[in-house]
This record gives sequence, structure tokens and C-alpha cells, in this order.
Amino acid sequence: MECSKCGSNNTQRLQDSFDAALPTEVPPTKRSLKWPGIGIFISLLLLANGGETIVFGVLTLMSSGFLGYKAYQFNSKFWPGLYMRWQASWKCNECGVIFHRP
Ligand SMILES: [Zn+2]
Repeated sequence: MECSKCGSNNTQRLQDSFDAALPTEVPPTKRSLKWPGIGIFISLLLLANGGETIVFGVLTLMSSGFLGYKAYQFNSKFWPGLYMRWQASWKCNECGVIFHRP
């Protein structure tokens, strides 16, 4: 692959030259569903408890559900595109530029 900036052939895919020291080269990560899951679990306990805690249970359930939905939406809609873009990223070993090419 030829560098889009200096024309050098000394390039490699980010995937192959993965270096955790450089934050821009880290592959995109999926959002964790751990905390929304824990929130929903707690809300169910609050709801099962009955009485005044039901209000907190409903609020926790709503916010956890919303967070979980946003995380799920990110993972299913945006993450694949980000990951594909990362996979199509090349780095020039001559000038250090990062360019995208499928
Ligand atoms: Zn270059």
C-alpha cells in the first residue's frame, strides 16, 4: 500500500502494527452493558421490595434501560463502522501519517 502523503511503500495496517502506546491506534471498543445490567438488577430488587422503594425502582429501571438501550444502539449501529474504519487504517512508517483505505 502506497502512503497517501509521501508515496512510500513502507506502510502497514494498523491492525498489524497495533501499538497500545498510541491511543489513536487502539481499536474501537464496544460499550459495556455491565452497569445497565447491574442497574436493572438493583431496580428489580427495589420493585420486589414494594412500598416507597418502588419509586426508586422505577427511576433506576428507566435510567438503566435507557443507558442499556444507548449502549446496545452504539454497539449494533456505530461500532461496526468504527471497527471497519480501523481495520482499513494504514500507517506509514516513513512519515507516520495514518490513512484509510479498504
Ligand atoms: Zn508517508
